Amino acid sequence: MDYKNKKKPLSSKVLALLKRPDRLPYLLGVVVFTFTLLISEWLVHLDTKIHDEQYQAHIAARIEHLSTQLQTAINSNLLIIEAIESLLLLNNKITEREFRILATRFHDSRLSIRQIQLSPAAIVKYVYPDNDTANTVGLNLRSLPEQKKIIEDSIQTRTMIMAGPLELKQGGTALIARQPLYSSKTSEGSFWGFLTLIIDINSLFEEAKIVSEDELTHYVLRGSNAKGSRGKVFFGSEEIFNDHYLSTLINVPGGQWELAASTNNNHSHVSQYNLLSIWGLVASIAFALLTCFSSKLWMQTYHRSIHDPLTQLFDRQHFQKRALIEIERSKRHSIPVAIIMIDLDFFKKINDQNGHQVGDIVLQHAAKLIQMTLRESDIVGRYGGEEFIVMTLHDDEQSAIKSAERLRNSLNRNIVVGNHTIELSGSLGVAILSHNDQTYDDLVFKADSALFQAKGNGRNCVVIASNDTSLEN
Ligand code: GH3
Ligand code: MG
Ligand code: MG
Repeated sequence: MDYKNKKKPLSSKVLALLKRPDRLPYLLGVVVFTFTLLISEWLVHLDTKIHDEQYQAHIAARIEHLSTQLQTAINSNLLIIEAIESLLLLNNKITEREFRILATRFHDSRLSIRQIQLSPAAIVKYVYPDNDTANTVGLNLRSLPEQKKIIEDSIQTRTMIMAGPLELKQGGTALIARQPLYSSKTSEGSFWGFLTLIIDINSLFEEAKIVSEDELTHYVLRGSNAKGSRGKVFFGSEEIFNDHYLSTLINVPGGQWELAASTNNNHSHVSQYNLLSIWGLVASIAFALLTCFSSKLWMQTYHRSIHDPLTQLFDRQHFQKRALIEIERSKRHSIPVAIIMIDLDFFKKINDQNGHQVGDIVLQHAAKLIQMTLRESDIVGRYGGEEFIVMTLHDDEQSAIKSAERLRNSLNRNIVVGNHTIELSGSLGVAILSHNDQTYDDLVFKADSALFQAKGNGRNCVVIASNDTSLEN
């Protein structure tokens, strides 16, 4: 099996990363970046949602307002019907003079009424104004092939019909509203004729203040021939119906119109969304960098606070802290541990012969040698001056002696610093935790005494403190 190509699972990669504390600030930076970005995107999403809802509510209110204006404009144009109907109910006939008085009054006051026609028995008789449609007088509405059925239905059902908007031969676009009139309001009243209003559509829109677009949206009207949403679009762009839109129905004679408005986000909103997202990204990067730098700084400060600046080994206090934890663990789980004290031999002489600076470099070398000889799980500290302290874990008496011997061997060498050759060696005292009553101080005392004996034995050797506190070589 090819083990090399076997991919490591993500959890082990994360664990490997956590074991490298120098990479922790970057990991934290990535976590903070992801978290802040997610939060900022969520806030942008919320803001967009609120904005959208406000926008929709605004459009809905605007449509209702416009439809009311349009409805009012249509209805006020139809008021003349009431007047003529009332006249008819009084004496069942209407003279040209009476028609002209009423027509003049309504035509002149209503901007959108282009022409008023009165057609007794469905034949056009009076037309006001009669400047451009003199030829419609005498026209039998029932004879219009395309309108015959609608005209008959309108008489039968007693309801007004509204055709159009349609292009007029004489120019312009207009709605044609025809109201059947009866001799009496009751169902017995016989059909008298038609009152026709030709309403100029553009003037009607002007009167109702309808526009095809404003700063926020586009508007459209459909329902040609009062067919509601089935009718053709006659105002604004049809494309609105292909997208998101809001609409409302407007009652017109004989049916309905549908007024709709697009609800797409306009450009400024999209760019505002992008701007917020960019700010979120910038904030995420800033937070991530801040986290990365501050955690790096914190780690450097912490590292400095627990390490000896010259050798980069744990200082005495931190070593003690770690050793106390290990001793507790050792007592609970019966794991053997040992303390090894190391003192470099004749170090005063090294300083005297080579200078203090060279002595410092030798100390750094010695620290490296000790670290390299030990296992990763062992703990090393600078006890003071040219003395080091080691706690080896999982070492019973035999393996502790072996570890100490390895250390002694490793230190026993010539070191070249510049043009100085220094003979290095160390003496070692070993103490093994043998029963639960022993404390850290007991162990250090025993190891120190063993070290003292090693010095007495001629240096460059290891002495093991016996469990009954007497010492052996
Ligand atoms: P012994 O074999 O008996 O241990 O002899 P020794 O000379 O090593 O013993 P002693 O304790 O008398 O001398 C230790 C010397 O270590 C004294 C001091 O100048 C030197 N020393 C302690 N700390 C430092 C340090 O940080 N840098 C340098 N260069 N020397 C140090
Ligand atoms: Mg010393
Ligand atoms: Mg010494």
